[in-house]
Amino acid sequence: MTARVIDGRAFAKEVTGQVTAQVAHLKHTQGLTPGLAVVLVGEDPASEVYVRSKGKRTVEVGMASFEHRLAADTPQDHLIDLIDEMNADPAVHGILVQLPLPDHIDEAIVLARVDPAKDVDGFHIANVGLLATGQRAMVPCTPLGCLMMLRAHHGDLSGLNAVVVGRSNIVGKPMAQLLLRDNCTVTVAHSRTKDIAELCRSADIVVAAVGRPRMITGDWIKPGATVIDVGINRLPAPEKGEGKTRLVGDCDFDSCAEVAGAITPVPGGVGPMTIACLLANTLTACCRAHGLAEPD
Ligand code: NDP
Repeated sequence: MTARVIDGRAFAKEVTGQVTAQVAHLKHTQGLTPGLAVVLVGEDPASEVYVRSKGKRTVEVGMASFEHRLAADTPQDHLIDLIDEMNADPAVHGILVQLPLPDHIDEAIVLARVDPAKDVDGFHIANVGLLATGQRAMVPCTPLGCLMMLRAHHGDLSGLNAVVVGRSNIVGKPMAQLLLRDNCTVTVAHSRTKDIAELCRSADIVVAAVGRPRMITGDWIKPGATVIDVGINRLPAPEKGEGKTRLVGDCDFDSCAEVAGAITPVPGGVGPMTIACLLANTLTACCRAHGLAEPD
């Protein structure tokens, strides 16, 4: 293996350490406690795990955690009423509605109801527009975590060729915007892109956000390039025992690591940074709400 493995867990620990210190400082100097509210509708097992983990980490950094668990058949109007209450609650600085929502609820209507200033997921159309026009926005957590790791590895990203594979609203598109903002030359690839392997071979940075296990292999990667693997795919792992599974990324780690200069592993790469960035966004939202200087 030639690539440096970018340790997302260590990086996330560093970020949460800084958030913890800044939260303590806010409490001490302003008497303020940043608060994060998470709403879960239904009982999707993966979402349950994320919500529990978010609540635990929120408390660990010294913030107030508000959890709202609603039944799967909760009417959309009830969810909207809850969002209105949280929008008006001064103790809540960040609101996260766990996706996916049950089919009878219109995701776009719900996300649009969240006060953009409390939209720590960065999914509100106002934040999408602010990011796209280079203005101060709430930035979606996963791409923000990727950007932080890229900046830490490369320093200045100016002039680098970046290929983002995937064009979802939550990862691919905001990732492309962030890289563009940092002066990369950005190409966004998707399921209709022609000769995607050749395109990736031209890239100094490849960000994979596809949801297809090990799709990107070492022969797609330019020697020395940086590979950020956002994908989380669960595959059967009979070697670990009956019914066991393992997580793999969208990149074939072993072959990519032979060629790349640096690579994020799955698990232990982008994933841990996502929650760290959620906490950082909540702190930022709290500072903005009170007209205080934002953390770096
Ligand atoms: P989506 O399913 O919303 O988007 C996938 C994108 O990949 C689409 O733009 C799709 O193209 C593109 N795509 C699908 N197949 C191909 C292909 N064969 N070649 C090229 N492009 C293709 O996924 P998300 O963006 O929500 O998530 C992507 C991955 O990242 C998933 O594995 C998810 O679990 C993971 N993830 C990880 C997070 C973390 O914290 N680490 C957070 C969020 C997501 P098209 O638009 O043409 O259909």
